[in-house]
Amino acid sequence: MSDAMMPSQQLWTGDYYNEGTGRSDIFDTLKEECGVFGVFGHPEAASLSYYGLHALQHRGEESAGICVTDGEQFNYHRGMGLVKEVFDRDKLSSLPGNRSIGHVRYSTSGDSRLTNAQPLIFKYRDGDLAVATNGNIVNAPQIRRELEQAGSIFQTTSDTEVIAHLIARSSKEFVEAAKDALRQLVGGFAFLLMTNNKLIVASDPHGLRPLTMGRLGDAYLFSSETCAFEVVGAEIIRDILPGELLVLDENGMREDRYAEPQRKALCAMEYIYFSRPDSELNGANLHRARKQMGQVLAQESFVDADVVTGVPDSSISAAIGYAEQTGIPYELGLIKNKYTGRTFIQPSQELREQGVKMKLSAVRGVVEGKRVVMIDDSIVRGTTSRRIVNLLREAGATEVHVRITSPPFKNPCFYGIDTPDRAELIASSKSVEEIRQEINADSLQFLTPDGLIRAVGGFNQGDFKGGLCMACFDNDYPTQTDFDGEEKFGCTC
Ligand code: SF4
Repeated sequence: MSDAMMPSQQLWTGDYYNEGTGRSDIFDTLKEECGVFGVFGHPEAASLSYYGLHALQHRGEESAGICVTDGEQFNYHRGMGLVKEVFDRDKLSSLPGNRSIGHVRYSTSGDSRLTNAQPLIFKYRDGDLAVATNGNIVNAPQIRRELEQAGSIFQTTSDTEVIAHLIARSSKEFVEAAKDALRQLVGGFAFLLMTNNKLIVASDPHGLRPLTMGRLGDAYLFSSETCAFEVVGAEIIRDILPGELLVLDENGMREDRYAEPQRKALCAMEYIYFSRPDSELNGANLHRARKQMGQVLAQESFVDADVVTGVPDSSISAAIGYAEQTGIPYELGLIKNKYTGRTFIQPSQELREQGVKMKLSAVRGVVEGKRVVMIDDSIVRGTTSRRIVNLLREAGATEVHVRITSPPFKNPCFYGIDTPDRAELIASSKSVEEIRQEINADSLQFLTPDGLIRAVGGFNQGDFKGGLCMACFDNDYPTQTDFDGEEKFGCTC
């Protein structure tokens, strides 16, 4: 039967679904913005970058790029789409060199178009410069305005370009110019900056965005997450420290800093949701950290029930922890549909309401006639939670108790996470009881900020707030967020 002849009620029953892009996603989940991967000193730099970026694909699906140097010249390729769509064997073999920086991008700052795909490549008076970043420069619009008034012409709409202009305008040599430029930036960012003879790796003074170092033989690798090291057989060395700057060149690696470290404030949502469960942050495995969140959540908000289930994939670890703590069996009450390909069909609002069924299914044989505890990582607008609760009810659950492994998400992020405006965040205006009614749950509880610190901060002993940024929960942003009366949230990369 052709699509045209297919009865409309069958439209969404196939084994594909619209994964959506950005704000029009059928899920109102938060979006990670970017992932970076760098190599210094390996003859297969491009291939390593390919595998590394593939492991970081969950951090950005809109574009991918790799820039390689052999010490003489840059070779690079960037494209729109997934890493496996952008690169093939021929493209990788056209990228010879032993140093590289790579990037996967999901962005709302700047357009979704090829000129904004990273690494961004520039020619300046000292040669070639490539830039890859993860995060957001809060004062980028202000710096950009000042640079444009002083005569700079920007090639992209990406705010990341400001660092290239700041470096190019400096009269100092590259490393000192980069330090001066980084000192002018306010926000949460992890940078890889590459010339034909140097690689610079830098983290913001609060360490808001994750960035780690690994080793493979004599080569140094850098990645937003350690899962990318595992894939290429590299060893994890350590996280890049707040305000730290590493310089790699023919003399090896030099550990330096461009700014004094401020209070450590690694994004709490990396622990809760973004990073892969096989990654490590601050030496802690993410699956283990999420299990602890589930255990603490159970201590804080026990409810008598028959089964515990987690919204796949990010909440399964926490659901196992909740089940272990309470003795209520963990069951696969929700499964994610296997096929994760993308189509470009945008569902209408009416079909969007049904769209969740294409991504998730409730398992009737598990939940029918049962009181279910449903664990999820966050509630953003509330629409997705309501749909999932209703899926469980339609499959026969007699009660649905929702437990969330984060505190209520009330404030937008200024440090690289795509969040809706404050007015669209359901917890910014509604009480827990009002949200419970909205999502049609029998009960609703969130992990407390103290509980989150207890579950995660134990890995960061002694740091204020467990070394976490929790601004989207408590409105306590680690940096200034408005410049010239303008607040810039979202992502720079
Ligand atoms: S505001 Fe929230 S999402 Fe943004 S960096 Fe801080 S903890 Fe992460």
